[in-house]
This record gives sequence, C-alpha cells and structure tokens, in this order.
Amino acid sequence: LPQEFEQARPVMQQIEAAGFEAYFVGGSVRDTILNKPIHDVDIATSAYPEEIKQIFHRTVDTGIEHGTVMILDHGKGYETTTFRTESGYQDFRRPDEVTFVRSLQEDLQRRDFTINALAMKEDGTVIDLFNGLKDLKAGMIRAVGTPQERFHEDALRMMRAIRFASQLDFKIEKKTLAGIQENAALLSKIAVERTRVELEKLLLGENPANGISALIETNLYEYCPMLAHFKSGLTQLLALNDWHLSSETEVWSLLSYAFFLQGKQVTTFLKAWKTSNQVLEDTQAIVSAVSPLLEGEPSKLLLYHTGRERLASANKIANLFGGEIDTPELLEQYDQLPIKSKKQLAINGGQLMKQANLTPGPMIGTILTQLETAVVNGEMENKLESLLEEAKNIAKV
Ligand code: ATP
Ligand code: MG
Repeated sequence: LPQEFEQARPVMQQIEAAGFEAYFVGGSVRDTILNKPIHDVDIATSAYPEEIKQIFHRTVDTGIEHGTVMILDHGKGYETTTFRTESGYQDFRRPDEVTFVRSLQEDLQRRDFTINALAMKEDGTVIDLFNGLKDLKAGMIRAVGTPQERFHEDALRMMRAIRFASQLDFKIEKKTLAGIQENAALLSKIAVERTRVELEKLLLGENPANGISALIETNLYEYCPMLAHFKSGLTQLLALNDWHLSSETEVWSLLSYAFFLQGKQVTTFLKAWKTSNQVLEDTQAIVSAVSPLLEGEPSKLLLYHTGRERLASANKIANLFGGEIDTPELLEQYDQLPIKSKKQLAINGGQLMKQANLTPGPMIGTILTQLETAVVNGEMENKLESLLEEAKNIAKV
C-alpha cells in the first residue's frame, strides 16, 4: 500500500471499530493499482456525518450536506464521505438530491467509470463490483451502467472520459464512446469552469493526442467554448511529436498558438474559457514570444520582457512547431542579461529629478524606459553616472 494509505489506516480502523464500514475509493484506488502516484485519499463510509463526528474529536465540516467530513489526525486531514445515492439530475449537471445510504454497492454504482468504482479495504483487499480491475488491465474507460443514462445525469462525465483517455492513455469502450457521440450537445449545460478543468487535465495528460482524437471523433469539441471554429487547429495538434506540457498556462499558450490567435484574439479565447487573469497575462507574453523564437534570433529585449519562466514555456512550444533553440542555452542567454527588471536599473525616477534636474511628469517614465532598453541591449553600462549623463542628453532633445 502507498504511504498515504498506510497513514490513513488507523482512521479507517477506528471507523470499523465503531461498527461501520470504511473504504478507500475513487482515483486513489485506481492510481494505486496502476502504480501511479496518488494525490488525494478519499474514504467512503457507511457512517453518517454525525456518526463520524462522534467517533472523532477533531473534524471539519468540509461538505457536510453532501456527506463529507474531514477527519484531522496527526496533522493530516482525511476526507470521508458517507455512502450516498444521487437522484434527480434535471439539468444534466448536478443531482437534485443526495441520499445517504448504508450500502457500498449503491455508492459505487453512482460513480462514473468502472475504473473509478473500485473500493479498497484498509488491509488492501479490493472490492470490484463492476469489473473495474479488468478494465484497468485492459486500459479501458467504461461507464458504470448505461452510458446514455449516465451522460444524461451528468454531462461533465463525457469530458471526464476523454480526460482520462489522455491522462491514463486508455481507450474509451465502444458503447461509452457512442454514448458521448450521441449526447455531446449536453456539454453546453455544464459550467465553463468545470469543462475547463477537464480540458486542462486532458492537455496535461500522458497521451494528449489520444484525448484530442476522442474530443474530435465524438464532436464534443463543438460544444466547448469557441472550439467549434478550430477543428483544423485541433487536428494539427495530433501531428506534433510526443509532447508534455507542465502548466495550465502552457495549455492555453499551445492552443492559442496552434489556432493562430494573436493579441486581442487570445484575450477573447481565454475569456470565453474563464481562465484567471494571471493565466491570460502569461499566455499573452508566451504567445508573442513563440514566433521570434521559431525564427531563431530572439532579441535581448524579447528575452527580458518575456521573463525566464515564460521564456522556457514559449521555447517549448516553438520547438514543438520546429524551432531549434535549445532551452538551457536560451535560459543561459537570459541569465546573462545585465538586468532582469526595471528595479535593477542603477537609476530611478527620484534620482532623475534630483540629480538631473528633471521636472516631474511623463518624460521621466519615457527616459527610464529608454535607459532600460539601452542597458538590456548592452549599449550602456548599468552605472548611475553614465545613466545620468545619458538622461540629460535625452532630456535636451
Ligand atoms: P483525479 O485523479 O483527477 O483526482 P478522480 O477519479 O479522483 O481523479 P475526482 O474528481 O477526484 O476524480 O473524483 C473522485 C471520484 O468520485 C471519482 O473517482 C469517481 O468515482 C467519483 N466521481 C467524480 N466525479 C464524478 C461524476 N461527475 N460522476 C460520477 N462520479 C464521479
Ligand atoms: Mg481525486
């Protein structure tokens, strides 16, 4: 058992000692069996939230209306969720009603895919009611129950299927795939933020081409914000050699670049997906650096304005499209820039006014920017005296 499970065992044993059942469930069981690192340990239990709170002194109500209580134990938190069934799904999204139940089977039955419907006892015994182990071995994503019904209940599951196809490099079982094809249009009922998370995970996955193929083949892309316009751009991604992105920003930069978006178009695209402003800002900078990097001679000023981390991302994308600059070499060039930000300039606005007798106003900023450019380009030394001298010259003109 992975360390995360070992540490949680005493908590599970305590629940059992009180006369209830407790199992590891969800992604952590799947990933443990696949020998992959796990992130969050989810525990499902027959105990109701109030019962959990009686067993443990230190708990936090993280989602008590859904049955989730966090147990605090030795500095760690364990999310336990009462077995439950869901019903109602009138809006193709979330259930109208969750009902706590005592049966593990009922809880596993509401889960999306067989590989996500495995449970594990604290001693490592696997409970496999839907042939999830077989599908795990075969690398297959298969809906629990009738795909049609399951995607009607919650349309996000279609994106999840495709995300897992990329993340795990699995195939989507035939009827499950057909279920997505038939219900693709329901994805428009889902909040953009939730779809976005799945698309990001897809593109950050093990085999993104696998996920993108499925996105196209099922027509699901047509119901994602703005993707309907970019079928050829998406298809083009399939031809790229073996890629691994490492951040959301790289995801949005790759898509924007592959779709030939520039300036305001990038903003429109990312706003449609409701990304954060930070991601938007970084993506803008990365996208505008890709072409110069592809052309092979990025200016010092470009390196400077792009910044180290974004430069690495931009070069990664340029190289996917045939760029030939070696990233470590590029970062070495960056590291040799005389300054990395305006703050490192040996002169500031106050000094300009005092020591060069300039009057306050927009001219100060203009001069500072000119000095900054000259220093970055290596045309001037970053020394107070020479910068002052130059500032006076500029001010005269
Ligand atoms: P990840 O590794 O990304 O966390 P995960 O499988 O753990 O993957 P979560 O979103 O953390 O995914 O959900 C935990 C579990 O809850 C899933 O494994 C699945 O059993 C169930 N689940 C999550 N979302 C849904 C859904 N939309 N429909 C049905 N079951 C779901
Ligand atoms: Mg999870």
